[in-house]
Amino acid sequence: MIALGARDRPDIARTEAEITGTQVPSCAAGRRSARGDRHGAGTRQHLSSDGVNDVLEARGSGEADGELYRIRHSLAHVLAMAVQELRPGTKLGFGPPIADGFYYDFVLPEPLGEHDLPELERRMRRILKRNVSFEREELPLEEAYDRLDAAGELYKREYAEELAQRQDLTTLSFYRSGDFVDLCRGPHVERTSKIPADAFKLRSVAGAYWRGDADNIQMTRVYGWAQRSKADLDAHVEAYRRSLEHDHKKLGRELDLYVIDEDVGPGLVLWLPKGTVIREELEKLAKELEFEAGYERIATPPIARTALYHRSGHLPYYAEHMYPFMELQEPSEDGERRVRDEYALRPMNCPHHHRVFAARPRSYRDLPLRLAEYGAVFRYEDHGALSGLLRVRGMTMNDAHIYCTEDQIKEEFIAVLRMHERVYEILGLDQYYMRFSTWDPSTDKGKAKYVDDPEAWEKTQRLVREAMEETGVQYVEGKGEAAFYGPKIDVQFRTVTGREETASTNQVDFAQPARMGLSYTGPDNQEHRPYVIHRAPLGTHERFAAFLIEHYGGVFPTWLAPVQVRVLVVSDRFADYARRIVATLRSDGVRAELGPPDETLGKAIRLATGDKVPNVLVVGEREAQDETVTLRRHGVRAQETMPAEEFRARVAEAIRTRAPAL
Ligand SMILES: [Zn+2]
Ligand SMILES: [Zn+2]
Repeated sequence: MIALGARDRPDIARTEAEITGTQVPSCAAGRRSARGDRHGAGTRQHLSSDGVNDVLEARGSGEADGELYRIRHSLAHVLAMAVQELRPGTKLGFGPPIADGFYYDFVLPEPLGEHDLPELERRMRRILKRNVSFEREELPLEEAYDRLDAAGELYKREYAEELAQRQDLTTLSFYRSGDFVDLCRGPHVERTSKIPADAFKLRSVAGAYWRGDADNIQMTRVYGWAQRSKADLDAHVEAYRRSLEHDHKKLGRELDLYVIDEDVGPGLVLWLPKGTVIREELEKLAKELEFEAGYERIATPPIARTALYHRSGHLPYYAEHMYPFMELQEPSEDGERRVRDEYALRPMNCPHHHRVFAARPRSYRDLPLRLAEYGAVFRYEDHGALSGLLRVRGMTMNDAHIYCTEDQIKEEFIAVLRMHERVYEILGLDQYYMRFSTWDPSTDKGKAKYVDDPEAWEKTQRLVREAMEETGVQYVEGKGEAAFYGPKIDVQFRTVTGREETASTNQVDFAQPARMGLSYTGPDNQEHRPYVIHRAPLGTHERFAAFLIEHYGGVFPTWLAPVQVRVLVVSDRFADYARRIVATLRSDGVRAELGPPDETLGKAIRLATGDKVPNVLVVGEREAQDETVTLRRHGVRAQETMPAEEFRARVAEAIRTRAPAL
């Protein structure tokens, strides 16, 4: 049996918040208020806690300690020098080299915006011209701390102390360049003359929490690109511009997929007909895979009494991330109105599903019980954090909860991992990695934040680790990244625009069932606690659609495309034949349509290209006579003429198998 420790803080929300793209919630209300610049907050959040991922990535790219790595690292210092010139009193966070450049996090006395970047670049170039040297200094700990204290560098100080403890250091290294001194392990170039002054460029300004933790202060992060030469830089910047073309907000507008209407409310998505097709296709995919895997579907309301959330532990801590509650009032004798009942829009589906489990007595024969629902949830995000489909206030989640015995955890977890892999394979998504997030009881945070049950942690982590090993899925370990109530696997994606985001999470939960009083009768006729696996391979419709729009650049594979086939005519004389083809395809369930009337063929083809229709059929005299069609695939130069029946069979097969191409 599992009992909750006394110190537990029910911030159960953390994990699922990540799937839905909400900012990781803080429980200590008020501490999130940003004292720094909020410019760009939420639009380019990084998940890495202290830039470590980015550093690893830079190292992983074969640049470890190489020349480019030193240049990028040195430019980060030069950037900090320029910022401190422009904004005296600026405090420093982290400033690592990253895969294509560098960044530095600052706490500024006065905000910086993108319009300040040219001035910063000018100042950086001036510093480079002075040919400043980078000199390493090793200081004993106390002296190092004194230096940081004297400089008022409280963040560096906090980190220095932690680093010294963690690595059992007796000295800390600093790098001095001119008047600027920074706590840093290096390496750097010897002198700034080694840095090509025309091969770097400041890219953007974004908000980033100190150590990636939303409980901490929000800093201002300035990103820069740095390459070996101006030519490399230009090519890189051009590739970046192209990736912005894939931005889902831009494509969502151009392709008529969704709108957000101020009258309905910020962060609340109105799916247009074409976007709704994508939603429904994803839902169909999930339902098929889940049906095959033995899930059962349920349907529960997106609203519940607040008492349910008090019981589940979401309230009161999660209240600041929920829409205001609905009070049902009734008049009393003294004429005052009293609250009779109170409801809330749900921020997650779990408590509802747990009540379905509890709706009748359960036996071990019912387990594993897999309850699935595409459930609508609502989170009251900060207005400034809202961003297209990626960060919204209302979302629909590919949710399911698997109730099982301890013996079943591993097998169920493996099945869930396999389902993830299958989903990603179908969608052609390969830019992801899995992160195994575990409990770290050695930190104060680890102790305060998590269910205090070392035995249960030990056991569930072992089971998840075994499941990962058995599937052979590659993963990195994120110590101290676990959810409050159990270990989890996060699936981390890198979007085309370079953001890393959590797409989905699988998680073993050994705490909620006890809180919610869930039990089943075992073969021994005794009551036992089930475990719960929370999972959502397709995340939320909103987030996943954003990923997919960017991943495909709006050119969806046939099965997913809002318009699968558009039929164009060489001249109006063949309109009847074209109509017949459209009708036949539609009778097969294919989303086929006629091209715009009264347009020249050339214009109609250009429009179809702009609409990113994957398959365009052109029919003229010969096609009408021979019952053929001429196929133009989006982005493919060669055309192909084939019998209309052959095309019909091919498109049906491509849709049935969800093929990446026709
Ligand atoms: Zn450094
Ligand atoms: Zn859940």
